[in-house]
Amino acid sequence: MNPKWNGQFSCFDLVAKTPDCPRSLVQVGEIEIGGGNFVVMAGPCAVESESQLLQTAEAVAYAGAQILRGGAYKPRSSPYSFQGLGVEGLRLLAKARQETGLAIVTEVMSEEDVDIIAEYADIMQVGTRSMENFALLEALGGCGRPVLLKRGMTATLEELLRSAQVVAMAGNPQIILCERGIRTFETATRNTLDIAAVPVLKTVSHLPVIVDPSHAAGVRALVPTLSRAAVVVGADGLLVEVHPHPEAAFSDGDQSLTFSEFRAMMLDLQPYLDLQHEHHQPRPQLLAVGGAD
Ligand code: PEP
Ligand code: MN
Repeated sequence: MNPKWNGQFSCFDLVAKTPDCPRSLVQVGEIEIGGGNFVVMAGPCAVESESQLLQTAEAVAYAGAQILRGGAYKPRSSPYSFQGLGVEGLRLLAKARQETGLAIVTEVMSEEDVDIIAEYADIMQVGTRSMENFALLEALGGCGRPVLLKRGMTATLEELLRSAQVVAMAGNPQIILCERGIRTFETATRNTLDIAAVPVLKTVSHLPVIVDPSHAAGVRALVPTLSRAAVVVGADGLLVEVHPHPEAAFSDGDQSLTFSEFRAMMLDLQPYLDLQHEHHQPRPQLLAVGGAD
């Protein structure tokens, strides 16, 4: 390990990789995140209506996603934008789970909403704008659900792990880290996907790491390529935005895939996943040359 990383991160003892705890699994029903299977979480940026959500849930399940994403409480940059359906959105997510068997990940923005969201969600998402909302992180310590912790758009990896440590110290070790792109001087993409974050985090921490190519790219054309990159660097899964009619989406339409684009992407990823899997298989022992006489 790079000695610099070791010095930088070893203080966060509950999330740091150690010989005794090289990696941890986050279990959601039958789904294991961080255990070698690549887990895809997909769905709309925001829950907009019953038909939008149920159609999307069916389409992403058919294409191989295991978890449905969708915001009911939306952290919008503008106060004039759609703010989400709130509890009604949570009810629709629960209905989609019942109809498809998909687990649910949805965002929580305030410690006041933790209890109600934990009643409906299988995974509690902390968005980029909330990564250092310490009151929220502490409240998630007792929520009884795994936490998907997104990297702040201006946060270092050390700061991301510091926030993870806060959740763990508050009593919840079930944490998934998410690289979703950071602010840089580059404007061609919405954010800059820090692809090296994945192997660095997987080296210094035992927590599972997933990639959100949608908020990194900002445009749908780049999403499949960034997803391939995520597979190749060893991510444990993806968080991807998918919408039945991206041009009419209430939020993040430009970066949302259509159903057919999502399915094509899932097929495209398969050979990369197979290669990755092969690469991590234990190598067969070489037979000793000579043999029996
Ligand atoms: C989202 O997942 O829709 C979202 C708001 O993401 P982020 O917090 O990464 O911007
Ligand atoms: Mn979004």
